[in-house]
Amino acid sequence: MGWVHSCFGKLIDVGDAGTVAGRALVEERYRALLRQIPLLYVVALANYLGLHLATGGQLDSLYSPSTLLVGFVLVRLVHWVRARHRVLSADRIVRELRKTWFYALAVSVGFCAWALTLIHGASADHDGHVILFGTLAGVGCAYGLSSFPSAARLPLLFLALPLAVRLILSGDLAHIGMGISVGIVILLILRLLGIHNKGVDALVASRSEISIERERARRAERLAKSEKAKTKVIADTDPLTGLANRRAFLRALARKAGSVSRRRPFALAMVDLDGFKPINDTFGHATGDRVLEGVGARLTRTGGEGALIARTGGDEFALLLSGVTSPSAALDAGTKVCAALQEPFIVDGREFRISGCCGVALLKPGECDVEEALIRADTALYRAKESGRAGVAVFTQDMQEIHRRRAEVEKALRLPGTLERITVVFQPITDLATGELKALEALARWHDERLGRVPPDQFIPIAEQINVIEPITERLLRQAAAEATRWAASVKLSFNVSAVQLCTPGSSARILAVLGETGLSASRLQVEVTETALLADFEVARDNLQALRAAGARIVLDDFGAGHASISYLREMQFDGIKLDGALIGSVGDSIRGRRLLKGVLDLCSAMNLPSVAEHIETEEQLYLLRELGCREGQGYLLSPPLHAEAAAALAAPRLVAIGSRSAA
Ligand code: C2E
Ligand code: MG
Ligand code: MG
Repeated sequence: MGWVHSCFGKLIDVGDAGTVAGRALVEERYRALLRQIPLLYVVALANYLGLHLATGGQLDSLYSPSTLLVGFVLVRLVHWVRARHRVLSADRIVRELRKTWFYALAVSVGFCAWALTLIHGASADHDGHVILFGTLAGVGCAYGLSSFPSAARLPLLFLALPLAVRLILSGDLAHIGMGISVGIVILLILRLLGIHNKGVDALVASRSEISIERERARRAERLAKSEKAKTKVIADTDPLTGLANRRAFLRALARKAGSVSRRRPFALAMVDLDGFKPINDTFGHATGDRVLEGVGARLTRTGGEGALIARTGGDEFALLLSGVTSPSAALDAGTKVCAALQEPFIVDGREFRISGCCGVALLKPGECDVEEALIRADTALYRAKESGRAGVAVFTQDMQEIHRRRAEVEKALRLPGTLERITVVFQPITDLATGELKALEALARWHDERLGRVPPDQFIPIAEQINVIEPITERLLRQAAAEATRWAASVKLSFNVSAVQLCTPGSSARILAVLGETGLSASRLQVEVTETALLADFEVARDNLQALRAAGARIVLDDFGAGHASISYLREMQFDGIKLDGALIGSVGDSIRGRRLLKGVLDLCSAMNLPSVAEHIETEEQLYLLRELGCREGQGYLLSPPLHAEAAAALAAPRLVAIGSRSAA
């Protein structure tokens, strides 16, 4: 049965709707049939009418086979006209084509049978008309079905050809000749159909190939577009927190700051975390990362809808807040941000407390560019940090001046040759009981031609931030140590070490190397460190200080009482002395509470067995009180201002000196 099925399949050959090219061919055939079949039926009807009239015009009875055939043709004509706007699936089309094949067969055979019944040999003219209209109908229908070749052959084979054969069999010579030529024409048309069909197949195949290629290109383009979009998302996202990164944030800020369509003010807030680094260093980066993720989540909640939150650096975050239109609202927003970070972060069951300072700039679109906007928020952040942990500040115009100065100092520090202009002066530290010179504190001095005098507490933090502190310190230490070699052996060199340097692994080795180069023994060095330096990275700072101590240097905690964490440092680190912050001394003159506080701190020092040094002694009263309270050593304008190297060397010459001849620096 299989071969019957396959022969039948070949005979009907509708096309293969299972492949893309096959589907295209089937659809193309159907489209062409939709256009041509109605005409085909009109041709069939016209021939029927022609034949009817040519053969005498006698109408068959209503129920005669030919009338039924005509009725059937009319029904199919209506069907095809109505099918014009129908969209069919490929499978439905295949079914339609199969039906069409059978109808074409039925109509061809039906017409042929009817025509043959009309030929009776009585009149050559009559028979000729039958054959003429019959073959015309066959050729016309074949043409109408030409886009569906297996159906197009049917009217030729089952209508026109039998009529030609009938002509040949008539025995009449003229009819035989006509029959042969009609037969040849039919064969040629069959051949033409084959050629035409091959052309159509090739055309459709190449068209479908083109459309496949086009679709492939479209898909590739879509893929490339989505890849591009994905790459953009990755490029704009901070992988750790999922927040926007610095790049994306700056772009959004530029859009907002430069927008001309929107005039509503907005706030740019910058957040800098306090206490994050020790977590990272002590508990590892994985824990640090989780804390940062937590910070990101809290800031996102706090910022609310419409806010853009970004992680702009290691532990730096930034927010773009819409709907903040007044300085008080900006302050509120900043306070909220800091408050959001107050609650501890829980990582693996452990509690971590950090805080963040927040600087907010209230900006109007079109008012300033991105750089200026960042400068303002940064200036506010700087001010916020000055006010201690979890500080908040909103940018104001008077901060601008401070900022401008800061920017100029930064620029000048980067210029070649500036380092050479930074020099050192020395302020004596004396024994308050005996007046003996114990040490000289090296203090940096920079007089810039354009900026004038730039105090060290202004330029040192900037130098730290822009990473030029190391060469500055090294140069100052070299100068100071070289000077100290000229002093009496009992006079120490007290040297301030910056936070950044202290927290740089191996900086102790470099300090000792400079001492080695200048020939000053490490036992003559007194290193002054501030608690902020220890705060930055306690572990590294402790390693460096231990190394210096092991080499014989004294370690003194500077500005004690100015910050918040010193007492715990007294427990965790071994110091050789404590310098009381100038504010503790300044307040003793006018308040009993100040005096009590000073006494308490001095008692604490003696309880810890740590010699105390008072700085900023400006009045006799302060000096008297400090002596009374048992403060060991002192420093201040009353005793001596900072001195130039020569004056310091004269003062510290190898003999017992009392504070006397001064030349102020
Ligand atoms: P500091 O280490 O606490 O230094 C003492 C500061 O108090 C010096 O200010 C000194 O000039 C000032 N001073 C001395 N006597 C008095 C007084 O009676 N009254 C008042 N009001 N002030 C007095 P200076 O030189 O401006 O230094 C400020 C800070 O800058 C220093 O504070 C120190 O932390 C830092 N610094 C100075 N030189 C260096 C340096 O070479 N390296 C580093 N890393 N920091 C330095
Ligand atoms: Mg100092
Ligand atoms: Mg100090």
